[in-house]
Amino acid sequence: MISIDRSFQTADLGDVRVANRAVVLRHVRLHAPCSRADVAARTGLNKATVSSLVGELIDHGLLRETGLTENRVGRPATMLVLDGSRHVGLGLQIGADELVVVAADLAGEPLLTWRRAFAAATAGPEETVRALATLTRRAVTRVTGAGRTVLGLTVGVPGLVDADGAVPAAPALGWRGVPLAAALRRALRDPGFPVGVDTDANLAVSAELRHGPYAGTADLVHLTGGLAVGAGLVSGGRLLRGGRGFAGAIGHLPVSAGPLPTGTEAPACHCGRHGCLAAVAGVDAVVRRLLPDAASHGPVTDYLPEIERIQALARAGDAPVRDGLAEVGRRLGYAISVLVDLLDPEVVVVGGHLAALAPWLLPAARAEVAARTSGPPATVRLEASALGAVASALGGATAALATVEAGQLPAA
Ligand SMILES: [Zn+2]
Repeated sequence: MISIDRSFQTADLGDVRVANRAVVLRHVRLHAPCSRADVAARTGLNKATVSSLVGELIDHGLLRETGLTENRVGRPATMLVLDGSRHVGLGLQIGADELVVVAADLAGEPLLTWRRAFAAATAGPEETVRALATLTRRAVTRVTGAGRTVLGLTVGVPGLVDADGAVPAAPALGWRGVPLAAALRRALRDPGFPVGVDTDANLAVSAELRHGPYAGTADLVHLTGGLAVGAGLVSGGRLLRGGRGFAGAIGHLPVSAGPLPTGTEAPACHCGRHGCLAAVAGVDAVVRRLLPDAASHGPVTDYLPEIERIQALARAGDAPVRDGLAEVGRRLGYAISVLVDLLDPEVVVVGGHLAALAPWLLPAARAEVAARTSGPPATVRLEASALGAVASALGGATAALATVEAGQLPAA
């Protein structure tokens, strides 16, 4: 019993040191530049503890000293900032018609953002894993060539992701039961850093929480725009994953209830049902609906030019395009009103093509949310994401840095 008690005690002291490291890193991240004395005064840790922790964090390349304070009474103090020069997180994203990789340093600054045309839905899982591995190796070469160490890699997928990083279902990609994390680790031949997989929506809302204009909002939703539509949900400052990690799969909510024009039926969805949110607001659905000629020369594999055509038509006042966008916006608003009733978020941001088309989608969506939410008038803000089409990759890069931010020291 005694030895067990001792081991508990040792573990507890270790845990305290890990937690205290996280406190110091977080303080410096939010308040840099700041002195050791500032950290002690603001965190409640004693000065000797802060000095010891800061020394360790400097040795491991997580903090660095930068100059002395000015305009300050008393002895000048050495200021501390996060050291972005040594450690990097990598994030990848499987988009509708591209793969994206972002490398970000500890301070969250993107070091590289590469986009590569790729149609994962037609390529299939094996070719996608090969392409992800190739892109990763190129990014790792660039990053390590600049003298930095990769701490981890997280891939964002438009579908369901389980705790092992496998993808049980991604209807928009036509994937079922794909052990993505394991396959990518194998393809990278044990790269020496952790390889994780998450939903693109979870990674995107994590990026919003950290980097977007609504960073720090405790009740925040990011709705992805792409072939799939997924919701990343932050409630009370925490990411909601649900029991199996499948929370936020709102893309297959039926939104085509109510009268449809005569002779039409609810659009077919990748999942096999009809009238889902993804079948109305997914990028392929929007392009098909608003640009009936887009697929006249074969399936669309590059959505950006088509979205730009829709923007140009909408700007020019093209009535069918504007009406079509307003109708998509109403259906989108219906889905958002369900989220608002469930979660009562302060802010809902839409990403991908939904952000690109926001000037024409969101007025109708806001009206629908206002009309449909129960209780007092909704005060939720509905806005376009400012993080562009790479939000999930940025979130993936940030996720790879999370263990360090939680106070674990990097191995390197
Ligand atoms: Zn569906």
